[in-house]
Amino acid sequence: MQVTSFKDLNPSPRILLGPGPSMVPARVLRAMSMPLIGHLDPEFLRLMDEVQQLLRFVFQTQNELTIPVSGTGSAGMEAALCNLIEPGERVLIAINGYFGERMYEMAKRYGAKVDRLDRPWGQVFDPDEIESTLSKASYKLLALVHAETSTGARQPGIQEIAAAAHRYGTLLVLDTVTSLGGLPVEIDAWDVDIAYSGSQKNLSCPPGLAPLTVSPRARTIIRNRRTPVANWYLDLSLLDKYWGNERTYHHTAPISSNYALREGLRMVAEEGLQARFDRHQANARLLWQGLEELDLPPLVREEIRLPTLTTPQLPGTFDEAAIRRRLLDEFNLEIAGGFGPLKGKVWRIGLMGFSSRRENVTLLLAALKEVLAAAP
Ligand SMILES: *Cc1c(COP(=O)(O)O)cnc(C)c1O
Repeated sequence: MQVTSFKDLNPSPRILLGPGPSMVPARVLRAMSMPLIGHLDPEFLRLMDEVQQLLRFVFQTQNELTIPVSGTGSAGMEAALCNLIEPGERVLIAINGYFGERMYEMAKRYGAKVDRLDRPWGQVFDPDEIESTLSKASYKLLALVHAETSTGARQPGIQEIAAAAHRYGTLLVLDTVTSLGGLPVEIDAWDVDIAYSGSQKNLSCPPGLAPLTVSPRARTIIRNRRTPVANWYLDLSLLDKYWGNERTYHHTAPISSNYALREGLRMVAEEGLQARFDRHQANARLLWQGLEELDLPPLVREEIRLPTLTTPQLPGTFDEAAIRRRLLDEFNLEIAGGFGPLKGKVWRIGLMGFSSRRENVTLLLAALKEVLAAAP
C-alpha cells in the first residue's frame, strides 16, 4: 500500500472508562492546538510558573521542587527511584499489585538491594506491619502505591506509614498516579518525600507528563548524592536548573503537553478539590450499586475501594473479552480486563477526571445489561 493513500485520521468517539487514558475535555484539546512557542520564551517561562503553582495546589504541598516530568506516569516512577537510589543501598517496596511490581523491577535496575513486602492483589498494608519491616534493616526508601490501578484498592494510613518511615530514617515514595485529582492526596500533611502521578488519569489530559513533587528532605539528599544519577534524562538536579531559578536548557520541554496540563489543572482548581472528590465518589457509588444489581460485585471491600477504578468480579460463565469487544464496537465504550492473578477474574472500570460523569455510568450499566443478556 502506498503511504500517500493513507486516509485522514478519524478516531472513533470513544467513551474511555478504562484504567487510563481518561477522556480529555474540549478545553484541554483546544489548549493543545495553540501556537507553539519556544521552551525558553518568556511567555513559556511564565506558563511553567503557573503549571508549578497549579501542581502544588493539586498535590497540596509547598514543595518548591514540583514539576511535570516529561514522559508518562512511569517516567515519574523512574525519576523518583533513580534520583534517590545509589548503588548498593537497601530499599523496601510494598507490593500488592502490578504497579508495586513495576517499582520493584525499576529499583533493581538502579543497583539497589531490594526487599519486597507482599500482600495479595486487592488487599492493602497495615501500617504496623510496614513499621515492623522497616525496623529490621536500614532502608533508604520505602515505595508504595496509593491507588493500585491493577486491583482497585486504596492504601489507607499514608500519614502513619510516612511517620513510621521517618522514625527509621527512611524516605517515603508514593505512587499517586490514579489518586491525584480524584481523591484526597495531601503531600505536606502526610509528609510524603516524593510523589508522582500521570497526566492522563484523573487530570484528564493526554498522556505524556508525570507530575512530581519532592520534599525539602528528599531534595537535600538528592543534592548530596555520592554518585551521579544513572539516568541523565530524569536527573532531578539537572531538571531543577530548568524548572528552578536558573531556567537553563536541559531538554526541550513538551510545549503543547504543558499547555494541556495547565488547562487540565486550571479545571481542577475551578471545580475545587473537595467538589471534585465528591463527584468521583458519587459517580463511583452509582456504578457500584449498578454492578451489584448485575451480579458483578466489586472485588475490593468498600472502605478501601478506589472511586476512580472499580474491579467487578466476573462469574466466569461468559467470555469477558468478547463482552468488552461488543461494548467497544457497539457502544464506543472502553473498559479493561484484569491482568496478572486477576486475569479473567475482574474488569477494570475507570471513572477518572472528565470520564467520571453520571451519564457515562448510566450508559455503561445499560450497555452491560443488554450485552450480558445476549451473552451465550
Ligand atoms: C497508569 C499507572 C502508572 C504508569 O503510568 P503510565 O502513564 O502508563 O506510564 C503507574 N502507577 C499507577 C498506579 C498507574 O495507574
